Amino acid sequence: MSNLERRGVPVEDKCPICKSRSESTLHALWDCCKLKYARYNWLPKKISVKGKYSNLFDLILDCYASMNGEELGLFCVIMWRVWFLRNSALHGKPKHDISVVVKWCRQFLS
Ligand SMILES: [Zn+2]
Repeated sequence: MSNLERRGVPVEDKCPICKSRSESTLHALWDCCKLKYARYNWLPKKISVKGKYSNLFDLILDCYASMNGEELGLFCVIMWRVWFLRNSALHGKPKHDISVVVKWCRQFLS
């Protein structure tokens, strides 16, 4: 039980982006079906796309071991942007096109 649930605050456990799965941090930042386009369009081939990781920490360790500095920088910005988009959807703010997240992140870093 989360701290919010203990305090009586209703907590939605469905992913605010795809609404189809119970949301974990790994789902929100990596496994969500709506992130498929982003995963396929930026990942170096050496990182498994889906189903390999049981938690976010394992994903981060694999990325840290497999990516060069530039790739790791882009990975971190993408995670940061995806988390922002997830929170925007959760709080009912205007939806952003998640398919352009990689393009947005590349422009942010340049
Ligand atoms: Zn989802």
